[in-house]
Amino acid sequence: MVIPPYRYGANPTEWITVPPQGYGGIQWVVATLMDGLLEAGCEILLLGAPESPVQDGVTVSTAVERTDIHVAIEAFAPDVVHDHSNAAALPPGGLRPTVSTHHLNGVPERQINGVYLSRAQRTAAGAESAPVIRLPVNPSRYPFQEAKDDYLLFLGRVSAHKGVREAAAFARAAGLPLTVAGPAWEKDYLDALLADFPHTVRYVGEVGGSARTRLIARARAQLVLSQPWGGPFSGRWIEPGATVVSEAAASGTPVIASDNGCLPEIVPGVGMILPVGQEITPGDAKRALASLPTARTVRETAVDRWGHHTIARQYLAVYKRAVSGEVWT
Ligand code: UDP
Repeated sequence: MVIPPYRYGANPTEWITVPPQGYGGIQWVVATLMDGLLEAGCEILLLGAPESPVQDGVTVSTAVERTDIHVAIEAFAPDVVHDHSNAAALPPGGLRPTVSTHHLNGVPERQINGVYLSRAQRTAAGAESAPVIRLPVNPSRYPFQEAKDDYLLFLGRVSAHKGVREAAAFARAAGLPLTVAGPAWEKDYLDALLADFPHTVRYVGEVGGSARTRLIARARAQLVLSQPWGGPFSGRWIEPGATVVSEAAASGTPVIASDNGCLPEIVPGVGMILPVGQEITPGDAKRALASLPTARTVRETAVDRWGHHTIARQYLAVYKRAVSGEVWT
């Protein structure tokens, strides 16, 4: 498993681990996929996340430079390399069968043997014959809670394309507080949010550990109102996979999402969809909340669709295709 090595917080000596200390989309995806692969009997070398917790079946490499990663891979001699770094950490001209999961928007660096998180993301990459495998969730990492508290939750990067303002507008129309959790690297955006929604938004910063899972499990609904603009790179944003949807659903928390990117593919059954740009009235908000599926339904649907065993099996099938020499784009 090759992931991009990222630093955590202000302390330059600490790396983001698998699973992550706080925010970490790719790190959560890889942690969950590893849960499934380990239970299926795989042995894994983890690269790009030094200091990750030790567990049976996993060797955590200290390599972070490309050349050292190359050496570590050759010493381990895996059947297949699974890249999550958009080729950034991958040794060039790798000798081994390689599968690359694309986590970003646009066309990936390495188009051979790609895996996409949604049809929307795959179409934007022009890779129609590549497989789509959804983001996994391990239900044992997410406590289920049927009784909910009276707040809505936004969990993620506090950025325009993630739709935090739209979430605040929804919450205000619904007459409910919005807890906003996540790193706020765009300070002006956060300041404007707090100034414009003083009685609605409660910003709690980045969360990890049980504070994070409790926050998800107790929310009436999680808001994932991603917008098609204001994103990194070209500015256009097609929500690629949305880890937060399966995490919320596994906790029994329904999702209210926009129709951006992957969301209309994955949210029906665990929540409801609102079109981007719709002005939300109190009546709309009330109807949306009343239409949500029950906690039990969303938990069962999440486990059925995205449980870590199911998704690991789908990856094992793709690994076999790559190992047998198949090439797809
Ligand atoms: N996350 C977290 N703490 C925070 C904010 C987010 O642990 O304060 C996690 C969240 O639970 C999810 C990931 O970070 O696992 C964000 O992934 P997602 O795919 O939703 O968004 P993106 O990768 O686009 O940032």
